[in-house]
Amino acid sequence: MEFGFTPEQCLHRDSVRKFAERHLASGAIARAHEQGFPWEIARLMGANGLLGIAFPEADGGGGGTLMDAVLAIEEIAQVCPRSADLIHAYNFGAIRTFTEYATAEQKSRYLPRLLTGESLMAVSMSEPEAGSAVTDLKTAATREGDGFRIDGSKVFCTNSPDADLFLVYVRFGPGVNGIGSVIVERGTPGLTFGKPSGFMGGDPWCQLYFENCRIGPENVLLGEGGFKKQIAGFNVERLGNSARALAVGRYAYNQARGHAMTRRQFGRLLCEFQGLQWKFAEMALQLESAQWLLYRAVCNATTALPSAYETALAKLACNKAGFEVANESLQVMGGLGYSTEMLLEYCVRRTRGWMIAGGSIEILKNRLAESVFERTFSQRAG
Ligand SMILES: Cc1cc2nc3c(=O)[nH]c(=O)nc-3n(C[C@H](O)[C@H](O)[C@H](O)COP(=O)(O)OP(=O)(O)OC[C@H]3O[C@@H](n4cnc5c(N)ncnc54)[C@H](O)[C@@H]3O)c2cc1C
Repeated sequence: MEFGFTPEQCLHRDSVRKFAERHLASGAIARAHEQGFPWEIARLMGANGLLGIAFPEADGGGGGTLMDAVLAIEEIAQVCPRSADLIHAYNFGAIRTFTEYATAEQKSRYLPRLLTGESLMAVSMSEPEAGSAVTDLKTAATREGDGFRIDGSKVFCTNSPDADLFLVYVRFGPGVNGIGSVIVERGTPGLTFGKPSGFMGGDPWCQLYFENCRIGPENVLLGEGGFKKQIAGFNVERLGNSARALAVGRYAYNQARGHAMTRRQFGRLLCEFQGLQWKFAEMALQLESAQWLLYRAVCNATTALPSAYETALAKLACNKAGFEVANESLQVMGGLGYSTEMLLEYCVRRTRGWMIAGGSIEILKNRLAESVFERTFSQRAG
């Protein structure tokens, strides 16, 4: 067992950092507060090989590893936390599950524009009555001719006001085995959008309504029986979520560390107060331990999709560390940390959401308990 990056990984990491410093350092604070999707940055990242980093070269990707994509999130977030969202969206998000399971024809239809940052795919699984209990989803795909009619509605879909493609979890039949997924393009008759809303972290969402929305068979990603595959693919998204939470927490920590080394009160540097030193010791412990759980899950997913157990451990640790460290770092920076002059308040708002999104920390603990006791625990009444 070796701890350390290969020379290639170091080169990749350094080149991403240089890209971030050259293109993203200026305006990082303003970018965190801007409304609307940053298409310009997406296209710039596409032109610099940062979208689809770990996708096969045959699909137009970079042919790198999942660890390369994680390193990219980490490096971008240290310079511009907001821009790390794009590395997530175009390497770990819906596009990753799509690339795993799409046919060659589907890939050639959508990937070229996605990988150049001209198009954006969002994942839509949550419904008003099916959040944590996602398998209760009702949005139905009913066969009509050789295609399907989609009816139902979805909530909380990140980037839905801007995305032009939606990976939608649908029900082809009853039970968990009846669940699969389809790709719906914006503009398809029968797909309409509710009033734009937003999360506390600043990312936008709006309700999606499907009413007599017809799609052809070529838009089915995973048919009946596809749910387990989808969730297996979604574990990659969870690792991206973990990496982003941790990286944003680390950004806040680095800001607070720099502040504690230069700010004086009572005639002393803040870092000379033991009360603050212990905060940093605790934060370092949280960041480092979560980092190793993340790296283990990522390294073990080099040739296969991530393990559900290792992913749940990594996400739980990274989500908690990211939020708690960001929050404590804000405290160390006092009024400045709470002000929009700095990104600390943004980091707290942002990391808070990831303890709910993509498997809340409670649902992750339920999953872990099943591994601990080697049995399932039904959460259902009766
Ligand atoms: C920032 C953010 C981004 C998101 N992006 C997307 C997206 O792109 N696409 C998408 O489809 N959805 C998205 N979501 C929705 C997200 O997946 C759901 O919010 C999540 O699954 C929880 O569902 P819910 O909000 O309905 O809460 P509920 O399921 O109603 O849960 C409420 C609370 O009860 C807890 N709880 C529920 N069941 C149990 C249980 N069995 N044991 C213990 N505790 C339990 C939950 O953990 C939670 O704390 C996003 C959410 C957030 C916050």
